[in-house]
Amino acid sequence: MRLCMHNLLDNSSERVYFKDLDSRFLLLSHGYMLDDAPGLSESDLLGKTDFDIFSEPHAIAAFEDEQRIIRTGEPIFGKIEPETFRDRPDAWVQTSKVALRDDNGTIIGTFGISRDVTAQVKAEQILTYKSLHDTVTGLVNRVALRDRLSQSLALLERQPGQVALLFIDLDNFKTINDSFGHETGDKVLVEVARRLTSVARRADTVARLGGDEFVVLCTLRADDDPRLLAERVVRSIGQPITKHGLDLTVTASVGVVVTSDPTTGPGELLADADIAMYRAKDAGKNCFRVFTPSRRAQVAANHLLENELRHALDASELFLLYQPLFSIKNGSLCGVEALVRWRHPTRGIVPPVEFIPLAEELDLVGRVDDFVLDEACRQLATWLGEGGWRDDFTMAVNISSIELGDPSFADHVAKVIAEHGLDPSRLCLEITETSLIAEDSDVEAMLAALSALGVRLALDDFGTGYSTLQRLQHLQVDILKIDRSFVEHLGRSARDRQIVAAITAMAHALEMTVVGEGIETNEQLDELASLGCDMGQGFLFAHPLPAKTVAELRRGRSAHRGRQSRPPKVAFA
Ligand code: C2E
Ligand code: MG
Ligand code: MG
Repeated sequence: MRLCMHNLLDNSSERVYFKDLDSRFLLLSHGYMLDDAPGLSESDLLGKTDFDIFSEPHAIAAFEDEQRIIRTGEPIFGKIEPETFRDRPDAWVQTSKVALRDDNGTIIGTFGISRDVTAQVKAEQILTYKSLHDTVTGLVNRVALRDRLSQSLALLERQPGQVALLFIDLDNFKTINDSFGHETGDKVLVEVARRLTSVARRADTVARLGGDEFVVLCTLRADDDPRLLAERVVRSIGQPITKHGLDLTVTASVGVVVTSDPTTGPGELLADADIAMYRAKDAGKNCFRVFTPSRRAQVAANHLLENELRHALDASELFLLYQPLFSIKNGSLCGVEALVRWRHPTRGIVPPVEFIPLAEELDLVGRVDDFVLDEACRQLATWLGEGGWRDDFTMAVNISSIELGDPSFADHVAKVIAEHGLDPSRLCLEITETSLIAEDSDVEAMLAALSALGVRLALDDFGTGYSTLQRLQHLQVDILKIDRSFVEHLGRSARDRQIVAAITAMAHALEMTVVGEGIETNEQLDELASLGCDMGQGFLFAHPLPAKTVAELRRGRSAHRGRQSRPPKVAFA
């Protein structure tokens, strides 16, 4: 029996052993000795204990396990433990041990099997490290951050104090990635990580959440001011990067949130810091903002609106009104501007300023604009089919800057025009001046493509952006709409009169048609007329109207009922 057992043991890749009640070896496999006690024979090891082969911590743990099995008869299965050999400091084994009994069932020792799982444990350690760290910067990642955040918050329960979280988002990282490539982008991220680590204290956690988002988590001491830390972060990141062969500057927007409440959820804290970070972006970037709770209510309201907006698109709750544009010179109806509205089931009619920015943020504005373009073209085709409109009557549609950045947009416009059988020159696309701020050659190419289709282009809200005359010369824009903020003070502000005079002269020099927006008084209209403005739009003439009312207006019938019925200053053609 002993011989058979030896054969079995010697051919086993696992380490198999029998021990007596004092944990001394009675029998052990050949591999055991070769691997772990080189140079020793079986007879050298028989009667010895783990203390003679392994390091003391391991020997103690093994001895305690075996003695417990002997006492209780309870086996141990698959226990993974470090087996600190004297010459291999970090080996791991997986061990199963059971009680060894004689024919009467009396426990006479233990029987164990162990196998070396060092490779497996190491692989798991690497995977764990990777799952908790960002590979580019070596910082901890979102998963690890959440864990540490939970720990810091839990600590507040026992040790009252404050936890601060800084949410850092680089302002121009996408441009760097797009212009210089991802390799440069990664170098920038590494440098930002280094700077954040040097600004933070050793006890703080610096994490990369992904993309260009970082977080610094710190437990504040009594005299700590998180705003000073935020300021240091903004300043440190904003320094030019001249290392690694780079010569560029990134800036960061930072949101700060502070809590002393241990019941705050980690997700909630991150979301609040994120909101504050967006406030920093709104404030012009390269700065920090501290979270204030009222903002959270606003975001919660936005969240509700988000779900409702998605529903609105599916449930056709959007509809269009059309605001007429008149010739200031002869009073004729030159066109209309389509303005979207949302018929909300409980809130009533929601104006676009309350949902277009949200739609832009949620990537839904394309769907809104697509609906508007299609519906406006459908209405225009219906009107033209009825006859009686001026040859140059146009339908103006507002286009968001996001839509303008979509390379397939011009094709889409061409398709919609063709579907409705329209002459392209009947359609005017309004783009805001602010969407042209960046010297973006893609936008310029898109404007050229749209112009080539034959549609007209209008620059909306002119004066609110920063277009230079030189820039305008290169853009294929037909119409300039002077923003209401300039028209508003005409007749009272000499400065605004000068500005409008300059804009009109400049636009005419570039052969553009000039439209005055938001004309509400006769005084404003007179000023615009004297400055040579071509067309006007505003409550003085007409509010945005339903399609039916516009048709009545054209027919010269009473469109002048109720609030939308001010008699136009100009006579209708
Ligand atoms: P906008 O393109 O400059 O449109 C003119 C806005 O001024 C309209 O507001 C119009 O109702 C308002 N308005 C016109 N005349 C007067 C006036 O005499 N006095 C005053 N106080 N306001 C006047 P609305 O319809 O609320 O639209 C606001 C903005 O929302 C629009 O400004 C446009 O930028 C955006 N928008 C409207 N419809 C759409 C759309 O279908 N798609 C996109 N992307 N944006 C749209
Ligand atoms: Mg407009
Ligand atoms: Mg406008």
